Amino acid sequence: MKLIFEESQPGRQGFQVPKSDVPISASVPAKYRRKVDAQWPEVSELEVVRHFTKLSQRNFSIDTQFYPLGSCTMKYNPRFTESLASLPTFANLHPILPQLPDGEQLVQGALQVIYEMEQLLCEMTGMDAYTMQPLAGAHGELTGVMMIAAYHQAKGNKKKYIIVPDSAHGTNPATAAIAGYETISIPSTPQGLMDLNQLKSKINGDVAGLMMTCPNTVGIFETEIDKIAQMIHDVDGLMYYDGANLNAVLGRCRPGDVGFDVMHINTHKTFTTPHGGGGPGAGPVGVRKNLIPYLPISRVVKKSDGAFGLDYNYPHSIGYVASFYGNFGILLRAYAYILMLGKEGLVQTTNHAVLNANYMMHRLKELYELPYDRVCMHECVLSASRQAARGVHALDIAKYLIDQGIHPPTIYFPLTVKEALMIEPTETESKKAMDQFIDVMIQVDRLSQENPEMFSKCPQTMPISRPDEVRAARDLDTNYFLQNSKASASAKKSHLIQSLV
Ligand SMILES: *Cc1c(COP(=O)(O)O)cnc(C)c1O
Repeated sequence: MKLIFEESQPGRQGFQVPKSDVPISASVPAKYRRKVDAQWPEVSELEVVRHFTKLSQRNFSIDTQFYPLGSCTMKYNPRFTESLASLPTFANLHPILPQLPDGEQLVQGALQVIYEMEQLLCEMTGMDAYTMQPLAGAHGELTGVMMIAAYHQAKGNKKKYIIVPDSAHGTNPATAAIAGYETISIPSTPQGLMDLNQLKSKINGDVAGLMMTCPNTVGIFETEIDKIAQMIHDVDGLMYYDGANLNAVLGRCRPGDVGFDVMHINTHKTFTTPHGGGGPGAGPVGVRKNLIPYLPISRVVKKSDGAFGLDYNYPHSIGYVASFYGNFGILLRAYAYILMLGKEGLVQTTNHAVLNANYMMHRLKELYELPYDRVCMHECVLSASRQAARGVHALDIAKYLIDQGIHPPTIYFPLTVKEALMIEPTETESKKAMDQFIDVMIQVDRLSQENPEMFSKCPQTMPISRPDEVRAARDLDTNYFLQNSKASASAKKSHLIQSLV
């Protein structure tokens, strides 16, 4: 496929920009001013449409393919919430719409959405208050751990460590480190749970808190949370619940009821909103009463006359963690989804997420090693160790699946499982879609016995087969195609391309 610059033909155009009638400001130094016109590709509207439509078809997407990428919950987002969020009355709101002379905020409807969303999340999770500002799950974690730090600072506690079990999501230890803590890792038992004896031996007065991913990254629900919480609270530590995957327990268990002090939710895994890929996303953070003073400002409040306003009077607040109210459009989608499904509907999505993952696990464990043989939650972790013994590793299976039109599961994660295949069908997939995937996995196992060499050539249907991943990461060259495709050789010489690079 060519670059849009290579499609360029002098004189073609799809859109005419009027000549600028704004004088060039003398305040822009001459060295920053353009000396030649911007060298945009010259293409017709139809060429632009075809080019970008073709590009989009090279993507894997939930709209086109099964996407069982464990830990990521790549589920279908109903179009209803999309159309609601694009209503001009919401989409055209500006966060600094002026206040009325009496201080009243003009954005009453938007504030009401944020306020009511906070109430709904409190009810669902047993927390006492929420901030909607964080822009993703990991950002929510950082917000939560910063509040833990503020809590200890206010009490004069000298704390150094955050405990993180080895079954935690990778963002947990990263968050603790960025917030200035050292981490203590706790190994898992052969059952995939946190080892309480290890925990007991490592707890001390310098422990600021514990971060628990639950269900953990092997898809299992920790069974002794009350004991763990007691041990942490005994040293005035706080319990952080990584609720990114709350779609596994929603309506069944509330983190606030079992000893957690602070938690985040990924709206893109639990409810419905597009995955950020770095943004926009949302990771609302809930706290129990003891952490309310440290919540980010501003807080949306309901006044005695029923109007909504903003409260900045939180002297111990950790401050803003995002501009204004966070990603409002994303929160709106999640809010609409919650109201659309209602209590029963949400519980049913949890049931489906867990049922689907267990169905997958039971069908596949005949052929694939199952490291933790017990009921799983929203995802299951299998191992390709039997296939690897025949020369077909988790990576080879992933590449083969691409050729079969299936997005690979998460591989080599969690790190605690060799040749890990982490499969998350999500609640929106049908039995038929799962059966098709299972059939392909049965075929993989058969081929690993009959023709293991074949896998090294996969994928064969993609523009690139197997990139040198180490080089791609260490020595990234985004112009690789440009320099290596024949069609580009002449184009590369033209200054069209020069202006691109
Ligand atoms: C996805 C995930 C995160 C990170 O969420 P982002 O929105 O990608 O930052 C954190 N913890 C767990 C358990 C997750 O599954």
